[in-house]
Amino acid sequence: MAIPVPPFALAGCKVLREHGFQAYLVGGAIRDSLLGFDPTDWDIVTDATPQEIESLFPRSIPTGREFGTITVLLEDGQVEITTMRSDGPYSDRRHPDYITFTTELEQDLSRRDFTINALAYDPLAQNILDPFKGRRHLRRRLLVTVGDPTERFQEDPLRMLRLVRFQSTLGFRIEKKTGKPLRGFARLIENVSPERVFGELNKMLVGRELYLALETLFTHGLMERILPELAAGHRVSPGESHPYDLLGHAMASAHFCEPILHLRWAALLHDLGKQETRKRVHAEISAASAEIILRRLRASNDLVKSVTTLIRHHMFAVHPHSSNREIRRFLALVGKEAAFELIKLRQADMAGMNQNPRRIVAFGQDLEARFHEVLKEDQALSLGDLALDGHDIMRALDLEPGPVVGQILRHLLDRVLDTPSLNERGKLEALAQEYLGSLPDSRV
Ligand code: ATP
Ligand code: MG
Repeated sequence: MAIPVPPFALAGCKVLREHGFQAYLVGGAIRDSLLGFDPTDWDIVTDATPQEIESLFPRSIPTGREFGTITVLLEDGQVEITTMRSDGPYSDRRHPDYITFTTELEQDLSRRDFTINALAYDPLAQNILDPFKGRRHLRRRLLVTVGDPTERFQEDPLRMLRLVRFQSTLGFRIEKKTGKPLRGFARLIENVSPERVFGELNKMLVGRELYLALETLFTHGLMERILPELAAGHRVSPGESHPYDLLGHAMASAHFCEPILHLRWAALLHDLGKQETRKRVHAEISAASAEIILRRLRASNDLVKSVTTLIRHHMFAVHPHSSNREIRRFLALVGKEAAFELIKLRQADMAGMNQNPRRIVAFGQDLEARFHEVLKEDQALSLGDLALDGHDIMRALDLEPGPVVGQILRHLLDRVLDTPSLNERGKLEALAQEYLGSLPDSRV
């Protein structure tokens, strides 16, 4: 059976073969191709050593040299080329103690996690190699470990999370025997580095069967180890109008949220603070907990910022019948981008309370339309939109640079948000003068 292979991946295999080495495409690319998805990355395995790979491909980066992986840059794309290996024991539960290079493809495939990831393809002979029934499991939409699941999860506990990740992204069922050891080994996940855990959680979060995946994490005791703050919402009520407990609400909100990473993180963590209080400040408390969780997982500053901003404002009060002035103030407060994302987050929140779908859709459409209407007026929403800047203020009021200049600008924006017609140079200068006069002397 022929699999469509991009020219650079084919070229990589050809070069190896022309020099007398074996070359197969393996892993996610073959799995995804057989499922009819576009693969994200292409991996080649070969019996060439890392040194040999580097000498055949001048433009290469030794990305994982100790395990024999070289990233090779070709004209129209890049491939990861890995020397076929079998792994020694994993006594630290992170890395194999040693690896042994091998010339046997089957040995390399046998160290891989799941049968659907242990398929190889020879693109020159157009032949699939499938020693572990990967294709059969793809057809049956089943996740099965290569070999004994007990051993495989003990060797590298991250595989438990990878299993749940594939449950989410592919929507496959977990074979009974494969799922059985999860509960007993869940505690081993604590030995895995936060970076690796985070990597799998991120992929899981944007998957289509997120609810089921989160349920697997919870019921097998993995969630209480990696996201204990979330698991603690089990059997805690989020409030009168909620049909589910806090954990169920978080899981359903995230599941029904658009699959954009930061939005889904926000939906998952938005109500953590309700374990402390149902008052509005729960949003602030949730944002603080989310920051702790994301930092622990080594998330980037950008992700922390976007997730906490959304959570902090998720109780926003504007609605389709709010005045233009209220909507302008909201857009100025959170920024345009977050404002539209907050609508999606609110819709996820509503879905997580089992609200009427017609209401959820109408709310989103109507509020978006109002945001667009207000944005079209093209009125000032930020300091940069004012008809004068800090230099103008200093010149007009004969001020030295200092914090008071910013304070005046913020005051002017505040006035302009209420009354956009004030955004003219002369009017703003007069307002600035008046405001400066109202400040106690010590502030000037
Ligand atoms: P993705 O679409 O996310 O890239 P993938 O299956 O390609 O999915 P990678 O992390 O890129 O995942 O790994 C490539 C291949 O390496 C996998 O398909 C699998 O065969 C093998 N693999 C990755 N991680 C492990 C692991 N922890 N244990 C065993 N095999 C693994
Ligand atoms: Mg991959």
